[in-house]
Amino acid sequence: MTNEHLNDAEIQQYALQKIDCDIYITEHIRHCANCQVKAQQYALLFEGINQQEKPVFDFNLADLVIAQLPETQHKVSYGNAFFYFIICIAIFSGCTIFYFLGTNLLRLFSGITPILSYLLITTVTGLLVFLCIDMYRKYLTKMKTLKYY
Ligand SMILES: [Zn+2]
Repeated sequence: MTNEHLNDAEIQQYALQKIDCDIYITEHIRHCANCQVKAQQYALLFEGINQQEKPVFDFNLADLVIAQLPETQHKVSYGNAFFYFIICIAIFSGCTIFYFLGTNLLRLFSGITPILSYLLITTVTGLLVFLCIDMYRKYLTKMKTLKYY
């Protein structure tokens, strides 16, 4: 047994759940009169709170609140437009690069050994797949958390 008294949270835990609380709390309260009195006071307080009649409205609160809410306005989603804009920019950039550097790019890839180009393609493809899967998983997680609100 320590010489320090229990704090309010521990005494409240004891008053609410005598069976489930830690052994050192029950041991301390068993031997300490001061904390015993506090625990009894908290138990009395909680009992009084539990005996209070729960407030009940005599009208349907949900209907009243819903009646006062403004009608939902359909928001114009710019998410898809932005996505298509990014894709258009990427395609335009790719076409521009191939138009101006096409022959040089082909010479660049023909200059390196095939095994190196296969490794490069495999790595880039694997990385792209991994990033897409990760992005999709994050999207699903965010959508799942949004549904709770
Ligand atoms: Zn004590």
